[in-house]
Formats: sequence, C-alpha cells, structure tokens
Amino acid sequence: MLHHVADQPHSSLKKWCISHNKFLELLDQIEQKGLVPTTFREIVELNLNESGLKDKVIISFDDCSAALFDFAIPELLKRKFKAVFYMPSAHIGDLNIWDIEEHAMESVSLMNETQLQQLVVLGMEVGSHGEKHLRLDSVNEQLAFDDMLNSKKTLEKLLDTKIYSFAFPYGKMPANHKKMLRKAGYQYGLSIYTAFETNYALRRFAINEKDGKEAIDLKLSGKYRLMRFFYDPIFLLKNSFFKA
Ligand SMILES: [Zn+2]
Repeated sequence: MLHHVADQPHSSLKKWCISHNKFLELLDQIEQKGLVPTTFREIVELNLNESGLKDKVIISFDDCSAALFDFAIPELLKRKFKAVFYMPSAHIGDLNIWDIEEHAMESVSLMNETQLQQLVVLGMEVGSHGEKHLRLDSVNEQLAFDDMLNSKKTLEKLLDTKIYSFAFPYGKMPANHKKMLRKAGYQYGLSIYTAFETNYALRRFAINEKDGKEAIDLKLSGKYRLMRFFYDPIFLLKNSFFKA
C-alpha cells in the first residue's frame, strides 16, 4: 500500500509518502525476489489459483495523486510493472478534501478523468476508493452500500471497463462488508488491519520511508503475512480496549 512518491513532501504528507529512492528500492526488491506485479483484473481473467499467485504481488496506490505521473508511473512502465490505483470517485480532478478538512493537510491535486483513462490504456488497473473517502464503519449501512455501488458505476462509465476491487478508506470496513461488496458487484475488498483475511478483506502492507532493505524484504514475504495474522487481532483488541 502506497500513497505519494515524492522527494520533498510537505511535512503533513510525510507519513503517507516515500522518496523516489525508496520507491526504486521497492521495485528493485520486487524484481530481485522474482515477484511479478499483477492486478485484480488479471487474477480474475486468468483465473489464477494459489499456485499461480505464488510469485505475484500487487502494488497499490490510494487516492490517485496526479503527481504519480511525474515519477512513479514512468518507473513502473520502464519495468513493465502493473499497479492498481484507488480513486475516490467524487473527487476526480479535485483535491484531497477529506485530508484538508479533517487534518489540515497540504492540498494534493488528484488525477483527472483523462489521467485515469490513460492509466487503463497503460495496462494499469483503477479500483474504487469509495465516492467521498468516508469511514464506512461509522455511517449507516445504506449510505455505505450506496458509496460502494455509485463509485463503481461512475468509474465503470468513465473508464468503460469493469471495476473489480474496492479499497476501504482508512481500512475501515462496515460489519456486513462482504455481503455489501458482493451485492455491489466487486470481487475483492482491501482492508489494512483485519483479524481474518478473506477476498473481501485482503490485508495490505504499507511501505514506509523508514523501511530498510530487510523490512521491505520481510513485507514482501509470506513470513510477514503470518506474523500479522497473529499480531493484528491483538492490535485490534488493544485498540478497542483503549477506545472503550
Ligand atoms: Zn485514501
């Protein structure tokens, strides 16, 4: 899970940003480990099973900052790497309003319609990041479902292609997320912390600027996935305890 790739980000964006070098380190390690970046479209169309997925990795970007076209996307293309880009559909060609309003974060220009269409032409995948980047675990069920369905419709109409996956903003999933995503026509849902991974709550791992070679190597391994399987339930429990 990535957001921004920039060398001198505004201090409010630092947490969600990796430098050009860190991004190249990640791509180098993917290559060195013999991993092949794929997309959800490819997984569905090629009907990849467990053994077909063994050497695959999904590189994903949330929020669709337009600046990804300056460095990250050209670097992916140089290596013929695919990636999935998650766009909040009500903010196409707009700014990261939710960050600005809630956290007074620096404004970031998001991809416009032409840039999203260009991604598809380049063989990349666009997924839904909801309509308005809401915390879907804290709105009513109808609103959450409408957000999933409408964002899918908007993107499908714009891109003339099927939208396969939904990345929950903030990783926040409503209790009935599986049923809702399925009903809205998605095949995959992406979470961040989840006690039990399913196709509708896939675990994502963020790559951070402070991650050294070993940390990236670990995050790209099955070992890390196993570690998180044990650690995440404790993390969730601890969080709900402190919230209470
Ligand atoms: Zn986001």
